[in-house]
Amino acid sequence: MRVLRRGDAGPAVAEVRATLAGLGLLPADPSAPAAEAAVYDDAVAHAVSTFQQQRGLIADGLVGPDTFRALKDATYQLGARPLAYLVSSPISGDDVLTLQDRLLEMGYDAGRANGVFGGQTEAALRNFQRDYGLTVDGICGAETVRALRQLSPRARGGSPVLLREQELVRKAGPRLRGKRIVIDPGHGGTDRGVSVAGLEEAELMWDLARRLEGRMAATGMQALLSRGRDQCPTEGDRAHFANEVGGDLFLSLHTDANRSPLAQGVASFHFGSAAGSTSTIGETLAGFIQRELVVRTGLRDCRAHRKTWDTLRLTRCPAVRVEIGYLSNQDDHRRLSDPAFRDVVAEGIVVAVKRLYLLGENDQPTGTFTFADVLRHELAKAE
Ligand SMILES: [Zn+2]
Repeated sequence: MRVLRRGDAGPAVAEVRATLAGLGLLPADPSAPAAEAAVYDDAVAHAVSTFQQQRGLIADGLVGPDTFRALKDATYQLGARPLAYLVSSPISGDDVLTLQDRLLEMGYDAGRANGVFGGQTEAALRNFQRDYGLTVDGICGAETVRALRQLSPRARGGSPVLLREQELVRKAGPRLRGKRIVIDPGHGGTDRGVSVAGLEEAELMWDLARRLEGRMAATGMQALLSRGRDQCPTEGDRAHFANEVGGDLFLSLHTDANRSPLAQGVASFHFGSAAGSTSTIGETLAGFIQRELVVRTGLRDCRAHRKTWDTLRLTRCPAVRVEIGYLSNQDDHRRLSDPAFRDVVAEGIVVAVKRLYLLGENDQPTGTFTFADVLRHELAKAE
């Protein structure tokens, strides 16, 4: 493009004048002369210098390619147009910058806030959409902008995502009745999972899922299994199922194996990236499950961890995956082969879910809250 300077006139100057007026740097011209008659006068040169200073550009009062692009970028306010990742010609503008700032404020790693909608901005946006229960399409459209506006006043006070997830759980109330839990027994069908000395993960987790389902149903929860006994849906299909049925929680059940026979214990996983974005309720529930199972079963504590596996990433509700014991370890193998042990595990998980909805009220020491307590609590509340 030709560099615009003092003395120039014409449509390009008219566009610059209009942009500067829109930014409040030049008084709007009520007489609005024809575009051909628009003049680059001293007032325009002064406004351009001011704009350049604000943007960290060389303040020479001339409109070259950099200043022209910056002026164009400045005209976009968040919500004025849909934003998406266009690989061949990335969108840039102040609306993108605002989006990136908001995402970073909330703890989503949108990369450097540079006003250009790239792959990392899209990934951060998807995480936000997922956590906020929006359509996860990576496009910043009307729905997402509305959600960002609602969150902005709180954004300074802490993590709005954390507040929102806790708010949903608090609103859901302490009762288990009516809660919809998707139980996901790992593997299945031709995929048997880990298999050691006659014990198969797919069958064990199916059995555990049924025990869990029975207890959940007894407390009035709606428990749904993500697969049939002889089916093995993909991780994505399992997450999709949870979204379709509108699950409140997603619990994936697995058991592990290791080359070392010494490896043993229970570990829980919730959605979260190394960069810091994490499902708060997922993390809380994983912590409760971990504590209850360790205290009740004597399994070694292999702690809770953040992961971005598909079942954790693609589910809209808080999701936890538990790896219960190592079939390759003698102690764990013996424990898991005992149906009574699997009952204890099922009870521990139900109690952990109950604790989540109690949000710290009626707190009893870990491991002392029994299934009978949970039932009593449900019946008392029902009256
Ligand atoms: Zn598994």
